Amino acid sequence: MSILIKNGILVNPGGSGTADVLTTDGTVRDAGTPDVLTTDGTVRDAGTADVLITDSLVSVVSPVILNYDADRVIDAAGMYILPGGVDPHVHMHLPSEAGYSSDDFLSGSRAAIFGGTTTIIDFVTPEKGESLPVALEKRMKEAESSLADFSFHVSPVEWRSRTPDEIRECIRMGVTSFKVYMAYKNTVGIDDEDLLKVLKAVGKAGGTVTVHCEEGDEIERLRDHYFRTDPANPRSHALSRPAKLEASAVKKAIGLAAKAGCPLYIVHVSSKESLEHIRQARLNKQPLFAETCPQYLLLDDSGYSGSFEQAAGYVISPPLRTPEDNMALWEALTDGTLNTVGTDHCPFTMKQKKAGADDFRKIPGGAGGVEQRLQLLYTYGILTRRLNFNQMVNLTSTAPARIFGLQRKKGIVEAGSDADLVIWNPDAGSTISAESHHMNCDINIYEGMQVRGRAEYVIRSGRLMIENGKLATDLTPGQYLSRKV
Ligand SMILES: [Zn+2]
Repeated sequence: MSILIKNGILVNPGGSGTADVLTTDGTVRDAGTPDVLTTDGTVRDAGTADVLITDSLVSVVSPVILNYDADRVIDAAGMYILPGGVDPHVHMHLPSEAGYSSDDFLSGSRAAIFGGTTTIIDFVTPEKGESLPVALEKRMKEAESSLADFSFHVSPVEWRSRTPDEIRECIRMGVTSFKVYMAYKNTVGIDDEDLLKVLKAVGKAGGTVTVHCEEGDEIERLRDHYFRTDPANPRSHALSRPAKLEASAVKKAIGLAAKAGCPLYIVHVSSKESLEHIRQARLNKQPLFAETCPQYLLLDDSGYSGSFEQAAGYVISPPLRTPEDNMALWEALTDGTLNTVGTDHCPFTMKQKKAGADDFRKIPGGAGGVEQRLQLLYTYGILTRRLNFNQMVNLTSTAPARIFGLQRKKGIVEAGSDADLVIWNPDAGSTISAESHHMNCDINIYEGMQVRGRAEYVIRSGRLMIENGKLATDLTPGQYLSRKV
């Protein structure tokens, strides 16, 4: 199938310009405009290069597009053409004591596609004693229904003598990133000694370690303390996970990664204090990446006021912080301290949240957001002039693709890249609501927020998935993405 998109404004991380984009057989054949094709003085038009290999920039006038009889032509006048979103942090079908998170790979990826995200990176969390490659293979099966392309971060939840071999095997299977938890010590978390071992093994194998930074032991102590004083109040969740315990874990993880010589990616940074440690490590030229999520940019701890029903949806880890933290995180997006915006998508229904009605420690932690990431950043980042469109594309697509070994396939629209495209209608307006969203959950933490812009068309692997804001009828599942270190 070939699709020709005409008259849109192509937004790549390095610049924007009017462009016609042609996709054939699942790849971008041509992003044919002199503006785009000559930005760095090289011929980047593989379509024309077949017939017109030349150093002359004048040759790049895209006869391919002029003469191509595409199966489908979309007029994108007044709209933007973006590379499909890459969400580096989602949890579909995550087991918890309150049951699986409410989005499975099908429903969660469908919501992602509606929101303009065509690639998701989820997680593999083995049982204790289970080998990492075996757990990875199982998870690949679970994800087969995903409508988005998918990959995984694999979690060593303990250190065993075979762990280094298993890490190397996972890399051979196309996984380049390994997730460790400094919190949740009684389930998936590991202690500092094992963290260092994982960092050394992954660093040696050429991978990246992603880390959930919260001081687990101290948090467990505080959770028990608040259970004794205010057991049924969701606010106790936030009080037991203060910003300083995130920041000190960030500092510690950075120190251990430096010692091990391993690139580090810090997930869901939520606090101002953490940013200072990241900035310092950058000054020291340490290979370090950091992510935040829309909830930490746009929501604050006032969410924990009110009834259990009002507050339980905001039980996420790390918890929501203060408006001052929100501001600091926006600044960190623009000055490059933070590299990516993921979602940590992990919705639970109110019924599931009520598992903790008498004991806040039993409220399943997590919230949905995979669908609203681009809309929220567009509305509250671009339209407020905190970010420009190229920065937004970089944060939500190009940088996660590059950091996790998908560069040139994902995160950019150019000749030869995967044909994952979003045609963004800047004029659409809506109000976020659990009544109308596509995530399988009766809670939306952004309920009532006004947003502008929507994914009018979404193309994944050269196929139309969303057309005029509606799901196409003949959908094909996404592919497992084998990544390279
Ligand atoms: Zn997460």
